[in-house]
Amino acid sequence: MNRESIIRHLTETEVVFDFIIIGGGATGLGIALDAATRGYKVALFEQADFTKATSSRSTKLVHGGFRYLAQGNISLVLEALRERGILRKNAPHIVKDQRFLIPCYRWWEGPFYFCGLVVYDFMSGVFRFGRSMCIGPKRSVKTIPNLRKKGLTAGILYHDGQFDDSRLAINMMRTAVEAGACALNYMKVTGLLKEHGKVAGVTVQDRETATVYQVKSYAVVNATGVFADSILQMDTPGKQPMVRPSQGVHLVLDASFLESDYAVMIPKTSDGRVLFAVPWHNKVVVGTTDMLMKETLEEPVALEEEIQFILDTAGNYLTRPPQRSDVLSIFAGLRPLAAPRGEGKKTKEISRSHKIIREESGLISIIGGKWTTYRKMAQETVDFAIRHIGLPMRNCVTESYPIHGSKPNPDFSDPLYLYGSDADEIRNLIASAPGMAEKLHPGYAYTVGEVVWIVRNEMPRRLEDILARRLRILFLDARAAVEMAPRVAEILAAEQTKDDAWKETQLNAFKELAANYILV
Ligand SMILES: Cc1cc2nc3c(=O)[nH]c(=O)nc-3n(C[C@H](O)[C@H](O)[C@H](O)COP(=O)(O)OP(=O)(O)OC[C@H]3O[C@@H](n4cnc5c(N)ncnc54)[C@H](O)[C@@H]3O)c2cc1C
Repeated sequence: MNRESIIRHLTETEVVFDFIIIGGGATGLGIALDAATRGYKVALFEQADFTKATSSRSTKLVHGGFRYLAQGNISLVLEALRERGILRKNAPHIVKDQRFLIPCYRWWEGPFYFCGLVVYDFMSGVFRFGRSMCIGPKRSVKTIPNLRKKGLTAGILYHDGQFDDSRLAINMMRTAVEAGACALNYMKVTGLLKEHGKVAGVTVQDRETATVYQVKSYAVVNATGVFADSILQMDTPGKQPMVRPSQGVHLVLDASFLESDYAVMIPKTSDGRVLFAVPWHNKVVVGTTDMLMKETLEEPVALEEEIQFILDTAGNYLTRPPQRSDVLSIFAGLRPLAAPRGEGKKTKEISRSHKIIREESGLISIIGGKWTTYRKMAQETVDFAIRHIGLPMRNCVTESYPIHGSKPNPDFSDPLYLYGSDADEIRNLIASAPGMAEKLHPGYAYTVGEVVWIVRNEMPRRLEDILARRLRILFLDARAAVEMAPRVAEILAAEQTKDDAWKETQLNAFKELAANYILV
């Protein structure tokens, strides 16, 4: 996990990797994990931090996608329900069973959604999380006290999966590294190396030192999500875009907006989409939207109409409608939808399934998909590469390969439960010196010891990496994140022996970033 020694390994030895993976989101990390656990030599390069882009900005659901069932996409739902079950088995410390309620306000909605969910449960087979139920309006209000009562005819209870996206990714990265992979963040792929017209590696630039390296590999996989076209352009300048970025926004509210452990699913909003309000780390995540975007930004910005749409829609279903001033954090993400053949399709109609494409040069790209199905996508991509690049065949093992930290029957009331089997190590560190138990914010359980452990074990390089994707506080409460930032910057600087000027730069950069998560 030491950056300097990984870089030395890449440059001082004449290593030729079996796989170079470009992109450290769910897709790239999944492929690195799959290939490394099959015994291949793997290097993964991420231009920013792991899950900096779309993979930290999901709705936090590991789900079959009930709405894809309504669209008739049976194979996608079947696959996702199976993957949901496998993921919960392999990462029980991060993926949990979440109970949902669908409030029904028209007489036919109760029987309609209940029948759909019976099919959904049936399709889950042995991986079923729980049985769906139709309940009356009284019990629905008891389940979610803040639900609008007027006109409520029934409620449908069902089960799906919920997770912490970035924390799963960090654990996947650690699993891949433990299986022998080299994974580096802040390493941007700037070009492709070619031999006789075939891709033979990449040029990468270390974003901390600006040093450029050339690294060789038999297979190069482009797993850069919404940025996939930029890598395809390196291969074939002028190539037609393959990706349609579609923006989705979430607002984070205090848990009192639901007063319940249940999530709410609104199956049909005014724009014909689905809106979720999901309990997450003692807050409620509400979203999302679906807006076709022209630009692919590293830090997407929520549009005013998206914010208003979420507030209005949530307000229609809650007795205490959320106001702008209630929003603790706001985040936007870009879906890497594979561009459809037919023009004029609305983004909500574009399939969420993925595409694996091979260029004449041998460059392999994987586009689209869902967090939930990352494992299957990785398996297919590695199998595809083996077939087309001519690597020796080795079987996929990830179906029953525990993710780092995996621990059965976690105690979800433990503030460190997400660390799984690492939690005891953190507790020991906290107990090792008085300063380690110091709290970082009066409203939250985070301690100095937790951050020190993260810096030593989870490869954060910048202040943002800790506050946004290791602790998640930027996504939960952006103002609290800003308040914690100076102390966390001190810890990071001390652990990495950086000077005051570096600390100041980190703080200023973080404050600027956090402004995008605060709704004024
Ligand atoms: C609003 C929203 C809600 C969602 N909710 C859910 C959900 O609840 N459940 C679910 O299953 N799915 C959900 N999804 C889908 C899921 O989040 C995505 O399918 C998944 O995160 C995509 O991962 P990825 O690795 O392909 O892309 P990304 O996470 O974007 O990763 C690509 C990475 O490549 C890096 N990169 C780009 N160029 C370079 C380069 N030149 N060199 C090195 N690195 C580079 C980027 O920095 C980035 O980190 C949601 C998506 C959105 C947008």
